Amino acid sequence: MASPKNLYYEKRAEFLVKSLRSRHFDAVYCATKEEALQKALAWIPQGATVGWGGAKSAAEIGLLDAVRKGDYVAIDRDTAPTKADFDANTRKAITADVFISGANALALTGEMVNIDGLGNRVAAVIYGAKEVLIIAGMNKVCDTLEDALRRARTVAAPMNEQRFLGDTPCAKTGICADCKSEGCICNHIVITRHGRPTGRIKFVLVGEELGM
Ligand code: SF4
Repeated sequence: MASPKNLYYEKRAEFLVKSLRSRHFDAVYCATKEEALQKALAWIPQGATVGWGGAKSAAEIGLLDAVRKGDYVAIDRDTAPTKADFDANTRKAITADVFISGANALALTGEMVNIDGLGNRVAAVIYGAKEVLIIAGMNKVCDTLEDALRRARTVAAPMNEQRFLGDTPCAKTGICADCKSEGCICNHIVITRHGRPTGRIKFVLVGEELGM
């Protein structure tokens, strides 16, 4: 029997999938990481070039490893041997057939919020990649767009900065100070409110906690 948390996620996901589809995104809900992996792979054409940025949620469901091992051309910056290769793959991934990303926050009304340091991830989501596949745990879902923006700025970004521990206020305190540090990771704050062409951006919502 499903736990209260699973039921909560399932019910909210039912609402969110309708909201996303009303905005010309495609969307499905999967209760587990394993189901999400199968659904995501079914959405990637064989032989496609596939790139990503810092796609932690996708890594957590095993999607990045599956792409590396599968019948795809992985544009894999994570295993790049040099900084130059890393930079080249970061740039190349923006125009991949399929770009895999997470979301910093989603609103039940169907908007997605992403914060980016370099801007490569949001660039690919906005334009460049032919298709975009978003993997998002239901822990990212907020009631309103305002709540989603708040989550992205006060939870996702300061938590993400704990990976880099740069010279930023949130690296030290865990609290966003709306900084202008040279190494600020919040240089682009993007709301994706509608999909065009229809179905270019696809969401796999997962009934587990993923990413940050
Ligand atoms: S704006 Fe600055 S302090 Fe706030 S989360 Fe981003 S990097 Fe951290």
